[in-house]
Amino acid sequence: MTKIDLRPALAKMLPYAPGEQPPPGKFIKLNTNENPYPPAPAVVSALQEAATGPLNRYPDPMANAFRRAAADALGLPGPEWVLAGNGSDDILTILVRGFVGEQEKLRLPYPSYILYRTLADIQAANWEQIHFLDGWHLPTHFTNADDDLRLVFLPNPNSPSGTVVAPEQISEIASALPCPLVVDEAYADFADSNCLDLVQKHDNLLVTRTFSKAYGLAGIRFGFLVAQPALINRLASIKDSYNCDYLSIVAATAAISQQDWLTEVVAKLKQTRQRMEQRLTEMDFHVTPSQANFVWAQHPQGQHQELYDFLKKNQILVRYMDFPDWGDGIRISVGTDQQIDACMMMIERFFQ
Ligand code: PMP
Repeated sequence: MTKIDLRPALAKMLPYAPGEQPPPGKFIKLNTNENPYPPAPAVVSALQEAATGPLNRYPDPMANAFRRAAADALGLPGPEWVLAGNGSDDILTILVRGFVGEQEKLRLPYPSYILYRTLADIQAANWEQIHFLDGWHLPTHFTNADDDLRLVFLPNPNSPSGTVVAPEQISEIASALPCPLVVDEAYADFADSNCLDLVQKHDNLLVTRTFSKAYGLAGIRFGFLVAQPALINRLASIKDSYNCDYLSIVAATAAISQQDWLTEVVAKLKQTRQRMEQRLTEMDFHVTPSQANFVWAQHPQGQHQELYDFLKKNQILVRYMDFPDWGDGIRISVGTDQQIDACMMMIERFFQ
């Protein structure tokens, strides 16, 4: 065996969830919050055309076509408020790289998105988890101005709960914090509110978005950041040179201009979510009211791991999540009506 290995601090790291992304076709896939529907037709034709484009050349390092389209579609003051990334995970990586040095600290609510901790670990930085209160509210010490605090993450809607902290409260949190507050809006397209407008009011409030969920483009890897132009400029200096490829830029540029399509697909998914919430409640689950494209459900009998295994054996893939010091449950992505009916029927069978 070779003695060559990563730094000792990285000894316990594992590759990302192997097995959770099986080859297409075998499972009803309700585990990673993708859109069950294909992307807008205009995106598919833009990609077909792009296949004969300048693939021998490097792409635009700043994805300016996308920045212009995004500013237009979202009503931002201009393209200089946007930074494009290879999925929003790439943006989150850039933010941690840029703001949090060795032994410095980032803060996140708990339970929430696990990647924030991983990014801190890679950076030899520290992380601090602040437990949500009952009802998924944030405690007042979420805004404590500790000396070593450099960055705060707030996924909104949160995962796994699908709950939302109101923009008014987020504005107060940004004012109270001495460092950047990153509102991770991966699921905001499904929510009743968002924080885009607040970016113009607070120079320490940054919003991240993704094409992997509502836009139905998890396969192309594209996400972006909205923040004040001075900050976008500084962050652009520490990203990978060509972090977004030509085909993804074309697809995302076409997709962001399809807001009517987006409204329609989101409405359809929300309807299915409502049916899911109702069926799960009828089966005695405690269901957290969701503003995202997934539902967090806990059954009084527990047995969540067994339920996950049973569903997997029956070709239905959901997410079992166990949060130490907090509890476990099942997170189910909103699929098509047909997929959700099949999943609900199988859950019913499990409890019979
Ligand atoms: N933030 C949250 C809260 C997420 O759940 C995800 C998806 N796993 C992401 C960011 C990353 O999304 P992507 O990299 O696909 O844009």
